[in-house]
Amino acid sequence: MEHPHPITVVTGGSRGIGAAICARLAADGHDVAIGYRSDAKAAEDVAATVRAAGRRAAAIQVDTADAASVDRLFDEAAAALGPVTGLVNNAGVSGPNGRLADADPDGMRQALEVNVLGYLLCARRAVQDMTGTGRGGAIVNISSNAAKLGSPGQYVHYAAAKAAVDTMTTGLSKELAADGIRVNCVAPGVIWTEFHADPERPAWMAERIPMGRAGQPEEISGAVSWLLSDDASYATGAILKIAGGM
Ligand code: NAP
Repeated sequence: MEHPHPITVVTGGSRGIGAAICARLAADGHDVAIGYRSDAKAAEDVAATVRAAGRRAAAIQVDTADAASVDRLFDEAAAALGPVTGLVNNAGVSGPNGRLADADPDGMRQALEVNVLGYLLCARRAVQDMTGTGRGGAIVNISSNAAKLGSPGQYVHYAAAKAAVDTMTTGLSKELAADGIRVNCVAPGVIWTEFHADPERPAWMAERIPMGRAGQPEEISGAVSWLLSDDASYATGAILKIAGGM
């Protein structure tokens, strides 16, 4: 059966930046598999938004740090929607906040597993599915401006994990260019979501941001959609900072 629409897996699609990405991709013609970890109701709400835009949706539970769970995500996405053509690696956690010397090792390990191993596992499986279809594919990794700033006193382990996301984007883009699979990265600055240990962080960070405010998830999603689209057919290995000038 022919599938004329792009079919895209978005991890962490149940809220925040991921939910905005799912809504935008649906508006731009994608069928969307919404990966979520714990909040099935939130994921179903996002699925309803996708369907209201006239596209197909599947909400699928996944722990992106677990290889078997990632395989199930892609199996179920393909069964529900058809062969996957796109991946947005977005599911992320900050882990402990504060100075490295005070950080809880288990929290750090969890953050590294979700932000680094999780992205690698999802990209690995997406590439297996995209290779040899004749349709190619596109991957967008959500990194962070923290990768460049280092996040001293806040979460150096998280910044280091996001630097790994930038590097995997560079390496994979070169590894896969001849296979017709593009790999790019969007690096947001401070965005209003439930990501922050202190929910008011986006407000008090504003004075350090040249534009004087934190961003909204919808100010990230358009860039992701563009990088997945044919308009970006010559873009691979790009790391696009969207951070209000920070
Ligand atoms: P968020 O609101 O906290 O949402 C995180 C999402 O990831 C949720 O959908 C969550 O699912 C999912 N998730 C977490 N751990 C998971 C796991 N192990 N397996 C599967 N899904 C998991 O975060 P956000 O602000 O939208 O962040 C999205 C991405 O942008 C992250 O990679 C983050 O590092 C990056 N980023 C955020 C900011 C910012 O200021 N917000 C800035 C730069 C970069 P459940 O809801 O089901 O738990």
